[in-house]
Amino acid sequence: MNCDLLVVGSGFFGLTIAERAADSGLKVVVIDRRPHIGGNAYSEADPETGIEVHQYGAHLFHTSNPAVWEYVNRFTTFTNYVHKVYTTHNGVVYPMPVNLGTINQFFQAAYSPGEARELIAEQAGEFNVKDAKNFVEKGIALVGRPLYEAFFRDYTAKQWQTDPEDLSASIVSRLPVRYTYDNRYFNDKWEGLPTDGYTAWIERMADHPNIDVQLNVDFFDESQPFNKKAAVGQVPIVYTGPVDRYFDYSEGELSWRTLDFEKEVLPIGDFQGTPVMNYPDMDVPFTRIHEFRHFHPERESYPDDKTIIMREFSRFAERGDEPYYPVNTTADRDGLLKYRELQADEKDVYFGGRLGTYQYLDMHMAIGSALSMWNNKLDRR
Ligand code: UDP
Repeated sequence: MNCDLLVVGSGFFGLTIAERAADSGLKVVVIDRRPHIGGNAYSEADPETGIEVHQYGAHLFHTSNPAVWEYVNRFTTFTNYVHKVYTTHNGVVYPMPVNLGTINQFFQAAYSPGEARELIAEQAGEFNVKDAKNFVEKGIALVGRPLYEAFFRDYTAKQWQTDPEDLSASIVSRLPVRYTYDNRYFNDKWEGLPTDGYTAWIERMADHPNIDVQLNVDFFDESQPFNKKAAVGQVPIVYTGPVDRYFDYSEGELSWRTLDFEKEVLPIGDFQGTPVMNYPDMDVPFTRIHEFRHFHPERESYPDDKTIIMREFSRFAERGDEPYYPVNTTADRDGLLKYRELQADEKDVYFGGRLGTYQYLDMHMAIGSALSMWNNKLDRR
């Protein structure tokens, strides 16, 4: 194999492993079937406007993990960007996630934090956060039925096309609910966007004499040297592709949601005044609009008379589509357990990342779990 470690997939998980391994002296080959590195975090400057576009949807970096924050800062500095989202319901704009501003605007009221808590508890009816078994129960427990129906029910129907009783409560728990006017999207200690873009950051992770990145190389294509059949058992492998694909779907296909994006350059300086506007109503077919210039208000090179927006549509992934979000139905969880048993028999193959573990991982989680895998399983010094 002519290397000490083969990494399949050049997203954050794969590159973190590759970088750590290269730093320890190992020769690493990273293959990726796409023509670029970085997985879904990849971004590119639009040729017409120079505005950085996240090709696979907006990526916002945030973490509370000191080890991850220290690690990522070796490769990039971060801007002081703080993510905020707004949502347009019945023609009116509200702050998201649900906070005292959202509640008071929705009920045209001036509730104090205590009064709002009481109201929401009453509107949650029989549901409580501790016992909530699924998305609907948790959603109603958190924000009460009227707000759930306005902001979560239909957005989630568009985003998942799955009965919310079959969706995990953990999906809604991603969003904070606050009884203050703080409308930050994330609760994490550190947050920001890479100062000179995601791709520059990712390229610096891969820029090491011990790392050989090979693009347009498919692990399952037996005509190329680093294929599954030739490599397994010959060299340790970190595999970050879809776990069901690895086993040739022998235990069935795990279900994923994929996204379609419609990008448009507009001849105006500002379309929506904010980076992300959600559309929780059914009469709008997309879930949200990203306007990329607002992720980098500090960049003076961006034009005043042009902007780029991207509408985001969600649907079930078919074979060949890019997988984004694991649906994680009961059938998926059963399938995943069977794949985990098969993994145990794969000699020196380590499964990681969002696709390799079938988990909804944020970037900082992918990096954190790669650091743990390196420290606990792979670092043999
Ligand atoms: N969600 C919602 N309404 C919103 C935003 C989010 O119902 O305005 C729900 C939806 O089910 C979504 C989940 O909360 O899948 C998690 O939202 P998040 O913004 O974390 O999703 P991501 O940005 O990862 O797509």
